[in-house]
Amino acid sequence: MTNGPRVSACLGFDFDAQSLWIGSMGSNSPSMISRGEFGAAAIPRILGLLERSDARATFCIPGHTVYAYPDLVRRIRDAGHELGHHGWVHENPQKFDRDGERRNLERGFEAFDKVVGVRPRGYRSPAWDFSENTVDLLLEFGFDYDSSCMGSDVYPYYLRQGDKVSPTEPYVFGEPTNLVEVPVTWGLDDFPPFEFVWGTNPGLTSPSDIEEIWRGDFDYAYEHSPGSVYALTMHPQVIGRGHRMLMLERLVNHIGDHDGTVFETIGAYVDRWRADNPLDRWKAEHPAYATPGTRAAG
Ligand SMILES: [Zn+2]
Repeated sequence: MTNGPRVSACLGFDFDAQSLWIGSMGSNSPSMISRGEFGAAAIPRILGLLERSDARATFCIPGHTVYAYPDLVRRIRDAGHELGHHGWVHENPQKFDRDGERRNLERGFEAFDKVVGVRPRGYRSPAWDFSENTVDLLLEFGFDYDSSCMGSDVYPYYLRQGDKVSPTEPYVFGEPTNLVEVPVTWGLDDFPPFEFVWGTNPGLTSPSDIEEIWRGDFDYAYEHSPGSVYALTMHPQVIGRGHRMLMLERLVNHIGDHDGTVFETIGAYVDRWRADNPLDRWKAEHPAYATPGTRAAG
């Protein structure tokens, strides 16, 4: 990438609210579900930080949350941020058949259409899980990009269709599609280090530890990866706590102090990346991602 920013910082906020505890965690405990309500309480302070930093961000929101907090979703839209599709009720796509997964995607679109009149062009799977049908369905719905997979770090790639996975046979690579993947990683997600979940996730890490990790990945990308994307995944109900907001503001200031960085939406970055990396040329330049079939005899 020759033109454009040296590093694009895409601040991602997955506004799950109650849906995370209902869908992913399967909880019906009102007190556990109320953790999600704090996400709604934290949205104004996050919008304030973004405004002070002149940053445009991407908010991925399940349809369930769009219906629960229509006024907040309108505020996010009106502040110029991107709205991304994040499932219906933070369900795991693997727990549904093809038609069930399709219906969840439809319900997410319906919520955005009814409440804010927006059709998201990007998808982030709840908890980053895919089923074997997900790529087919994302193409069927005409998504422009996904941001749930982890096959790269600071450069996007085109997602494949038709990989064959077996514990006994060599890996069979499918064909790259026109769907851009903006990769994520648990190391740049606030939930594992910070959110305490009984028996599964100790959380409650000191923000200075996470600041060192998050800064390190930005600094490395800035030094070594021109035209890259630095994508953070945060949750208002997690990052919105005071000590973590202070850390995020320090990090945003650190990034902003570097010439040639921009805070933009994932969609804006994808537009530039796709124009600079047309599929056929990208395939020729990236055989490790793009050569189909079984690559060596087993
Ligand atoms: Zn989520």
